[in-house]
Amino acid sequence: MKALVIGGAGYIGSHAVYELIRAGHEVAVLDNLSTGKREMVHRDARFYEGDILNKTDIARAIEGEAALGRPVDVVMHFAAKLIVPESVEQPLEYYHNNVEGVRVMLETMVEHGIGNLVFSSTAAVYGEPEHDECLEDDDLMPINPYGDTKLASEKMIKWVCAAHDMNYCIFRYFNVAGADDSLEIGLEKDQVTWLVPLIMQTVVGERDMFYIFGTDYETPDGTCVRDYVHVSDLARAHVLGAEYILENDTSILCNLGSGSGYSVAEVVTAAKKLADFPVTIAERRAGDPAKLIANSDRAKEILGWMPKRTLDDILRSDLEFRRRRQARKA
Ligand code: UDP
Repeated sequence: MKALVIGGAGYIGSHAVYELIRAGHEVAVLDNLSTGKREMVHRDARFYEGDILNKTDIARAIEGEAALGRPVDVVMHFAAKLIVPESVEQPLEYYHNNVEGVRVMLETMVEHGIGNLVFSSTAAVYGEPEHDECLEDDDLMPINPYGDTKLASEKMIKWVCAAHDMNYCIFRYFNVAGADDSLEIGLEKDQVTWLVPLIMQTVVGERDMFYIFGTDYETPDGTCVRDYVHVSDLARAHVLGAEYILENDTSILCNLGSGSGYSVAEVVTAAKKLADFPVTIAERRAGDPAKLIANSDRAKEILGWMPKRTLDDILRSDLEFRRRRQARKA
């Protein structure tokens, strides 16, 4: 299989590239390097610098690959903006990049006869879920622009794939964290709002204090509960998903999470076993649902996917990657 990974120099995209190459697949990467880094691209992947919003850039990568003798079988999409508070402040920017980007990508795929797409969606499409575990067929009511851009993209993908006889594999991610075992790649971006990187930035001294946002939620210890999945487990699901839609000429949509929930306080306790850091209780952050846990049975049944890594693996790998990066910079 040959994959064109759009956004393959970013955090999740670069891990997908590593897993594709480990599985013996051929990979080309298209990335505009706005947040991704050239050195995150695996040495065995061909790199095209370009933007998902620019049809000529996408076409150049697709045609460049075809000219090498084997056309692209599947496109994987990771080129989205994904910071929830930023999406609330800059909705137009998010709709432009995330929704128009998908439209341009689909149009270019149709014109070049590429019939398979793996797409990164998010648990944010569920909004405030009705039950403890999110199922793929639950109501979809995003509560922020980021989630809404992903829902709009999911819908567009379904319509376009139906009209043009294409297959899609849509994954709804829960809380992704951690770094590749090689420690060559990990989360490079510093301006994030996510729990695990913020804890570890505090551990390595890049932040003075870690804040727990709210202890009065309706959860056993009052802090929010989330479903954490290791980025390499998540990346591996993309390999299985792409192989599945190609072999079976069909489309699928699955949640990707571990199925276990950990509260913010539990994550803090687990992290403190690795290294101490200062913690303060703060007010609730706007827009945080109390509990978000994936039911990932569908991914298990259809793809045989099982996350192998634990919360401890997630925390440890993020910390090791961060320490290694600090040592490199020093
Ligand atoms: N959180 C926190 N302190 C932080 C960052 C996050 O207490 O510095 C909490 C946040 O309020 C939420 C959980 O950790 O309850 C997970 O947040 P994150 O931003 O990682 O992911 P989300 O589930 O919001 O996508």
